[in-house]
Amino acid sequence: MANNSPNIAIVGGGISGLVLAIALIRRGIKVQVYEQAHAFGEIGAGVAFGPNSVRAMQTCSPEIHTAFHRVATRNQWPDKRNVWFDFMDGYDKDAPVGKEKLLFTLTTEDGANAVHRAHFLDELVKLVPDGVAHFKKHLDTIELPDGDGKVKLLFHDGTEAEADAVIGCDGIKSRTRAWMLGGDDKPGAAPVYTYKYAYRGLIPMQRAVDELGEDNAKNAKMHLGQDGHILTFPVNHGETMNVVAFHATEDDWPDARHLTRSMEKKHVYEDFKDFGPTVQKIIDLLEPNLDCWAIFDTGDHPMEAYNKSRVCCLGDAAHATSPHHGAGAGICIEDAAVMAELLAEPGVAKAGTRGLEAAFRIFSECRRERTQWLVQSSRRTGDLYEWRAEGVGRDVGKIYEECKERDERIWDSQIEELVAEAKESLAAILGA
Ligand code: FAD
Repeated sequence: MANNSPNIAIVGGGISGLVLAIALIRRGIKVQVYEQAHAFGEIGAGVAFGPNSVRAMQTCSPEIHTAFHRVATRNQWPDKRNVWFDFMDGYDKDAPVGKEKLLFTLTTEDGANAVHRAHFLDELVKLVPDGVAHFKKHLDTIELPDGDGKVKLLFHDGTEAEADAVIGCDGIKSRTRAWMLGGDDKPGAAPVYTYKYAYRGLIPMQRAVDELGEDNAKNAKMHLGQDGHILTFPVNHGETMNVVAFHATEDDWPDARHLTRSMEKKHVYEDFKDFGPTVQKIIDLLEPNLDCWAIFDTGDHPMEAYNKSRVCCLGDAAHATSPHHGAGAGICIEDAAVMAELLAEPGVAKAGTRGLEAAFRIFSECRRERTQWLVQSSRRTGDLYEWRAEGVGRDVGKIYEECKERDERIWDSQIEELVAEAKESLAAILGA
């Protein structure tokens, strides 16, 4: 491989895998994507991106940035364009629908900047050239060569593939991570339940406006309360209101193999029975049967390294987080930007297998602290929203201060600096 562009296998074609593939192809690096499903696909729910992730898209590829803006939706009111969320008192039982007390507002340069997941993925798929994606390829395990040979991927259908290096973008239940840690029974191989779950729904905007009022329907709102919180934001260029209703629980999730299950709406009413009329009205708008998502993460046993030889984990595979910062997918895009920039360094191809190992080692060293902090900070943030955080409880001033500080740590990070630091560390190993 020396002096030639390496051949990279990406396992998984979610947001991480596709963004990484596009970023690498743009840099002239050969890529194959192995996806277990029969086609690329995402669920029909909203996902919000902070300014750090939008900047990282630009670094990955200006085409990704453009594609994102084609499908992204911001708050609909011009004077709320920079609002991340208005944080409302969901327990305000005296206020009529749509008139809950505003507790505080967090702002950032683009405010809530959200996409319908499936629409964003469709845009990304358009940027992947033919011949790159291979479907119905569920990775079972990986074999490393003795020396400089190819890394082997073994799939569930009995087929194999080879590559100079493998990047596992295979999500929260990553096989790549389990292989790297030494087996399914090793701590960290499986994600853990955070004892929160979420109901999700999409409401036609006109209905939401009619029932909740224009401000509540068209701009991002977070309704806080004891042991639960509900967030809403517009997607589909303002045609749809996305709803996610989180609740804490003491009970175990019934089956860790299935992270979603269908639930009747009566459970949502029961969970949020102590919330005020606005939250009750949001629940009224949801479908009678809903998907309920268990919130798992990798926070109990963070990986000590994201790399092993010429194999590396990236995105949720490396650091799956609960979604309370609205930053999990965004941090995957930062990962992809750093990885693509490292692998494109001329010294990597020149140094052959040693170059790939070095790039993966530096990726791991540079990304671990920020990504694993996010996992822990997201747990804390979920508890802040639900008045369960130790030392804070229902103290609105303290909730505001802590949320602001934590969110700004995510949003203010500059991808150019993250990339520059990583490249400098790589040059120190490989020689400039
Ligand atoms: P995934 O999306 O899980 O993709 C993994 C891919 O790998 C899939 O296509 C899968 O089929 C494939 N795969 C898995 N195993 C194998 C295998 N063995 N072989 C081959 N292919 C395989 N993030 C935000 O930034 N903002 C938000 O607002 C936000 N909201 C969220 C709300 C909820 C309720 C949840 C649960 C998460 C939220 N997130 C949010 C987090 C975000 O969804 C994830 O961080 C992101 O989707 C992870 O992308 P990924 O590509 O790494 O993993």
